[in-house]
Amino acid sequence: MRKFNYILKDKTKTIKEVERDYIKVINAGLINKKIADASILKEILLCPPNTMNDELHLDFIKRLRPITYNLVDKKFILFDFFFGKEYSQLQPIISKFISENFSFKICPYCGIDYVNSFKECLSYYMNFSDFLINSTHKELKRLKRIGDGKAKEILLNRSSLAQKDFEKKYSKYESSFKQLKLKPQFHNHYTLDHIIPKAKYPLFQISLYNLIPVCYSCNTKFKGEYELENCVIPNSDGYVLESGLKFCLLKEEDSFKINYKLIHSSDSKSINDYMKEFKIIGRYNEHLDIVLSLKEKAEKYNDVKILEISRQTGISVEELKEMIFGVDVINGEPDSQLFKLKNDISKDFGIL
Ligand SMILES: [Zn+2]
Repeated sequence: MRKFNYILKDKTKTIKEVERDYIKVINAGLINKKIADASILKEILLCPPNTMNDELHLDFIKRLRPITYNLVDKKFILFDFFFGKEYSQLQPIISKFISENFSFKICPYCGIDYVNSFKECLSYYMNFSDFLINSTHKELKRLKRIGDGKAKEILLNRSSLAQKDFEKKYSKYESSFKQLKLKPQFHNHYTLDHIIPKAKYPLFQISLYNLIPVCYSCNTKFKGEYELENCVIPNSDGYVLESGLKFCLLKEEDSFKINYKLIHSSDSKSINDYMKEFKIIGRYNEHLDIVLSLKEKAEKYNDVKILEISRQTGISVEELKEMIFGVDVINGEPDSQLFKLKNDISKDFGIL
């Protein structure tokens, strides 16, 4: 429910430079160097999802290796054959690249869950001694020359040795701990989705613009192999989900329900299919309390009332609105949770 904009973390770089880096990173990660023609690798890695079709896929296969026509139907073999590395092995490299180069905050498919990556450099440990005493088994193993057995031994010795002896015994690992603090680790709060399913076009599974960070639920539970129309692909130019529909609150007998109305009729089928596939209405109705609370406040504090309070207190109308309805409603970031829902409904209630 949110367009995916390629916001670069490094403001001194251009998107062309990042694309170049991506080609380098993938090239370095490939075991099989059968791709003699670097220009074809570039084309595969940078082609946009709206051009990914049978024709283009077949064209790449033909250009990659004319003798492998007979492999066309054995799609799963294709990728390894050309690139020499399973996608699962390249995946951490690609994730790291996307985390390091692009800023993103909200799941573009649902607009409900945050997606992000963060750097962690064990900064919650004051010093090596604190680390030795309080670190987890996993963290200990991140130190050079500490394997599973050694980590277990350290954990055991924490309680059996006197602190002084304990620290002395493992003091040799202090330099490795310091190095680790200087070299932060990336952690991801997202999954990478293949916009065009990799089973359909194996060669496009490492195409930069075919990979998008989304929440776990959207990727695994709802989208699966569902093929998105161009108008609902978050990184496509023709994306219509922000302007093509409007959330609204409907009264059904004694209760209220969040629903939506279509604005652009030409894409209505794709939008309706999308809303069903991602279970958007069901998922949004789990947040009905936010909308009902806004409704209650809007009824209590209309414009006349707010103006009156403003005159009495000297607080500006804008500030009062933020205090009553929340900053996220009055001046919310489009990349915040449920932004479109709050924005659409607030307009209906006369808050915005
Ligand atoms: Zn999502």
